[in-house]
Amino acid sequence: MHHVGLENIFNFHKMTPEQEIESLRKELREHNHNYYVLDDPTISDFDFDMKLKALQVLEEKYPEFQDPTSPTLRVGGRVTKNFETVVHDYRMYSLDNSYSKEDLEDWEKRIQRILGDAEVAFTCELKYDGASISLTYEKGELVRAVTRGDGFQGDAVTTNVKTIKAVPLILKGNYPDKFDIRGEIVLPFEGFAKMNAERVENGEEPYMNPRNTAAGSLKLQDSAIVAQRPLDCLLYGIVGRNTGISSQWEMLENARKWGFKVPNVAKLCTSTSEVMAFVEHWDKHRHDLPYETDGVVVKVNSIQQQDELGFTSKSPRWAMAYKFKAEQVSTQLNEITYQVGRTGAITPVANLKPVLLAGTTVKRASLHNADQIAKFDIREGDTVFVEKGGEIIPKIIGVDFAKRPQNSQATEYIDHCPECGTELERTEGDAKHYCPNYYGCPPQITGRIQHYISRKAMDIEGIGGETVELLFKEGLIKNYADLYTLTKEQILPLERMADKSAENLIEGISESVKIPFERVLFALGIRFVGETVAKKLARAYKNIDALMSASQEELTAVNEIGERIAQSVVEFFENSANREIVSRLATYGIQFSLSEQQLENQTDTLKGMTIVVSGVFETLGRDELKQMIENNGGKVGSSISSKTAYLIAGDKMGPSKRKKAENLKVPIISEEDFIEMVDKRLY
Ligand code: AMP
Ligand code: ZN
Repeated sequence: MHHVGLENIFNFHKMTPEQEIESLRKELREHNHNYYVLDDPTISDFDFDMKLKALQVLEEKYPEFQDPTSPTLRVGGRVTKNFETVVHDYRMYSLDNSYSKEDLEDWEKRIQRILGDAEVAFTCELKYDGASISLTYEKGELVRAVTRGDGFQGDAVTTNVKTIKAVPLILKGNYPDKFDIRGEIVLPFEGFAKMNAERVENGEEPYMNPRNTAAGSLKLQDSAIVAQRPLDCLLYGIVGRNTGISSQWEMLENARKWGFKVPNVAKLCTSTSEVMAFVEHWDKHRHDLPYETDGVVVKVNSIQQQDELGFTSKSPRWAMAYKFKAEQVSTQLNEITYQVGRTGAITPVANLKPVLLAGTTVKRASLHNADQIAKFDIREGDTVFVEKGGEIIPKIIGVDFAKRPQNSQATEYIDHCPECGTELERTEGDAKHYCPNYYGCPPQITGRIQHYISRKAMDIEGIGGETVELLFKEGLIKNYADLYTLTKEQILPLERMADKSAENLIEGISESVKIPFERVLFALGIRFVGETVAKKLARAYKNIDALMSASQEELTAVNEIGERIAQSVVEFFENSANREIVSRLATYGIQFSLSEQQLENQTDTLKGMTIVVSGVFETLGRDELKQMIENNGGKVGSSISSKTAYLIAGDKMGPSKRKKAENLKVPIISEEDFIEMVDKRLY
């Protein structure tokens, strides 16, 4: 399909492939900038994706025109095993903190003493709460992205940072030949919430807060995963020789012109009272921002004055952070209740006397687990301090012991499930308690059915979470296989069920037989088997029978399937009730094997072979190579041993790897050799 489109493009524009590649890159860069930096897209997502695909196809076909700043790099794919340590050309300093108007005034006095009676102006910016980053640009190209580390040296996380769409890979306008620009990589609330919703859906623990998640993302080995995270990058400072910049304000404006994302809220102030007005405004309104901030940074505007002021051993004398007070209130804890999730995990919840915090009324706070309650000695009837930090759900950070009632009793964590009465279990190393009553515990049963019908799983229309609960309560379904035996007559008498909606429900359920195997596998709700793992398992085993008879060892041999997942899969299929549900689903026509078309790309050519992939590749990405190994029955090895069948060597493979392969007489082959080996048709 792409090829047809591309030929058209060539004929129409009469461009050479190189020109076509360049023109697509240019256009995509502009759209990236419009969308991610200016928040003002001018084409549809679909058109953008089509153009990006067209570029990918061309780049694959003409690897000689590769470019480290190509927009196709945004999708990631390269893996970094060890992040290289890089010494910063200019140290990344800390900031001094102030907490009051008096602190700020003292600071201004100290500055004035050094600068004499010169007029001083200040730029006020928000203090973004994420992970600091230093980006190095040479001749307008991003060459390096380094974390702050200890301020003197950090880790080069360039490959990962390149996937962040707001970071320009190539600059516009009149930029200095070489400079570093500093900023903060943040994870906006909305994207963070979405990531967590997905994790919960996959039976995983949600992340605690956006800041740590942003920092953690930079250190992921697989840049393709980083690419999927909605990270943003906000810039605030340029360092370098001969930048021609004379003030902080001008710096922000220039950075914006060169294509960087620099928030517009910054303000140039000429007095401390103006500075305080800025601080007070944002202390109130920071919750309207899409990302987390923890204060204001006030900087002496003139670069010449900055130079005069210089640095202390830790921080610039010309800048000061004003920290917002963490928003905290105290209120009464009325009751601790316990929620049971789809996986049986118990979450204690603090039910509070409603209180206003950071602009919203808070009635509940998560208590996480038994340890957390014990650590703070939190009890019903206590007056507790509630804080809204980076977390979406407010948390309890302590107890006001002075207000503890006389008759207060230590909290005894429940030992039986609040929903079904079964004794709870807790495994070593897991902070949570679980209800083991997989088949009889109502919220676990309905939770699994709700997961089964959800959009990313079987995507069953005409039925929602509440209907599932109702059907369960009425005794019409006990598991997701029961959905397929529901009749219109059974459901019509239910509350709010009209003729049409009953029909839609039955129709929606029967439509789900078209859902492909990998999504069925995800829908089964096996713990730790999220969407990606389900895809991997489906490709590796091709049908449910093969998967059901796989041992834990065999499962862990599949690339990226760890012990924890393998054990969970084995346990799931060992269970006779699960097996029965699966075989019932099969009789209703649910897809339990890959389709003919999916199978076509698969062979047994590499059966029994372990192949190691190392270096950087041109034609196929690393992940594609690994996929191809697995599709053809091979196993991807992580390190070279005497059992390695082949080493596929790309560019920049480490010399020690080559040596080891040579010593062990492991054949070293190129990407082309490999492709030829498994699929001659590709060339
Ligand atoms: P601290 O970590 O408290 O010493 O604060 C210094 C950090 O604040 C720097 O490493 C920056 O990453 C971060 N920061 C966030 N926003 C700004 C800003 N607008 N100007 C300067 N630094 C900022
Ligand atoms: Zn239970």
